[in-house]
Amino acid sequence: MKLSRKGKAYCLMAGTLVCFVLQMLIMKTPNGGSILLQLGGKASMVNITGVIQAIMALICIILVLIDARIGLIIARVILLISVVSMVLAVIRSGGGLTPLPGAVTVLMSLLSCEIIARQFKQMEMDSITDLVTKLLNRRGLIKELEAQQADSKHFHMMFLHVNNLKSINDNLGYEYGDKALAIIADRISKVVSKGSIVSKLDGTEYAIAIPENDDIKLIADEIMNEVNKKIVLDSDGVPANFYLRGFAGVATYPEDTNSILKLLRYADIAMYHASKNNKERIVYFNKSLEEELLRRAQVEGYIQESLKNDYFFLVYQPQFRAEDKGLRGFETLIRMKLPDGTNISPGEFIPIAEKTDLIYKIDEYVLRRALTEFKNAILTSGDKLLLSVNISAKDISSPDFAGKLARILEETGFPAEHLEIEITEYSLYDSLETTVANIERIRGMGAKLALDDFGTGYTSLAQLLHLPFDLLKVDKSLVDNVETSEVSRDFVKLVIYMGHIMNSEVISEGVESESQLKLLREQNCDFIQGYVWSRPLALQDALDMCR
Ligand code: C2E
Ligand code: MG
Ligand code: MG
Repeated sequence: MKLSRKGKAYCLMAGTLVCFVLQMLIMKTPNGGSILLQLGGKASMVNITGVIQAIMALICIILVLIDARIGLIIARVILLISVVSMVLAVIRSGGGLTPLPGAVTVLMSLLSCEIIARQFKQMEMDSITDLVTKLLNRRGLIKELEAQQADSKHFHMMFLHVNNLKSINDNLGYEYGDKALAIIADRISKVVSKGSIVSKLDGTEYAIAIPENDDIKLIADEIMNEVNKKIVLDSDGVPANFYLRGFAGVATYPEDTNSILKLLRYADIAMYHASKNNKERIVYFNKSLEEELLRRAQVEGYIQESLKNDYFFLVYQPQFRAEDKGLRGFETLIRMKLPDGTNISPGEFIPIAEKTDLIYKIDEYVLRRALTEFKNAILTSGDKLLLSVNISAKDISSPDFAGKLARILEETGFPAEHLEIEITEYSLYDSLETTVANIERIRGMGAKLALDDFGTGYTSLAQLLHLPFDLLKVDKSLVDNVETSEVSRDFVKLVIYMGHIMNSEVISEGVESESQLKLLREQNCDFIQGYVWSRPLALQDALDMCR
């Protein structure tokens, strides 16, 4: 029954009191009478005693429904007193059977109370237990933690996520995935100390409370090792080996917070950061992690608002021929300006958009808007100017990208030969097949392809030979060091050389000084993009430059 603690206590007290008063009314005094008998006549007494007993039995059942544990104790006492008083009445009346039906009612209701209470206890157990691992579930964990909190116990909270379970589910079926989860639960329970609480949250997550005095770093590492150990599952007599991987977050009570719900959230935040972090499998909570997450949520909101209310606009950074500063074209760069005048840089919001599906909308918005804004200038300019658009790794590796681009080209009437799509090396890490298919279709439409931020990733030469890029863009971080570091200078030289033997042209981006420019020209860099010759321009300035 849904009542507050106080409400329950009042109800239990009131019920008990009513029952006792009723019992007093019908209880036989030693001289054979009763209070009720003295109030009413003898005949009415016999009828009313039965009714009152039935009411008491009903109240007892209600008490058990209110609180299975305490209600049952009270019901047992009340009904026992009732039975005893009836037995006494039978003895006193010299064995008359008049009280017998009342006694049966009372015994039946006692039995009902016992059954209801047992049922309730089972339901309560089920509601706090994870059926697969038989560990506590989230509700059970919170209950236990609240008890620890009441006992002023300090502890670490570890959230653990187990990866790769999908491969077991896919290969052997869900019942084997469940078996693996139970094996992990067992292993964790074996390495933690006696005062720990191991629980299983939704999906493939576990939450483990570890006493503060235990060496958390040591235990967390041990838990991780247990998760990473081989799991052997027997499928129709054939043993199959699986390797799961885990990452985890840890927060500490009460150092990080003295609220249980916040503690769980903090452990979850730390775990989230561990999932994004390739280096650390276990992340320990600190306040900056929460701030980062809040900022991310805020920026995500800004992106959504910007898409809806058009707070985005585009700027265009010119690209020039290194030898004579002739105009090659423009790189489209997105900007976000909120109504209060705040500018959010794409360096911040693009990576956040890339973690959600918002990046698809942004890329589509930029393509449609840039091609529309530049179409006339491109068509009327005598030079063969190019307009570059950045496309995120997630977008270029999605199966719909080429189709979407074809549609936008058709809708805007922009000539594909004047379009260049810039992708980064990260596009080549995941779903390479889809990316390559998209690249081929893009080139089939007549558009060009540039590899952005070259020199910051791990693209192999073999990959580059297979992928026909029209342009390699030497990353600013390499350009930054060409004056001071011989290694960077040699590296840039090598990149330019490599680009040329693969029939690609090479542009250096982020060129800021005359001396960088001079060195890049000496190394036969074909094009220059950077503040040294021009910052990104507003649309009108860029269109004027085309003329
Ligand atoms: P990126 O594509 O490598 O763009 C070059 C960045 O370097 C731009 O920063 C540009 O303003 C900046 N830059 C150019 N020359 C110089 C220079 O001489 N000195 C310095 N300090 N910076 C220079 P921006 O516009 O802040 O963009 C940052 C990144 O955000 C871009 O790097 C790109 O990865 C992403 N981005 C920008 N616009 C878009 C877009 O429309 N779509 C997508 N998917 N990503 C975009
Ligand atoms: Mg770019
Ligand atoms: Mg770049």
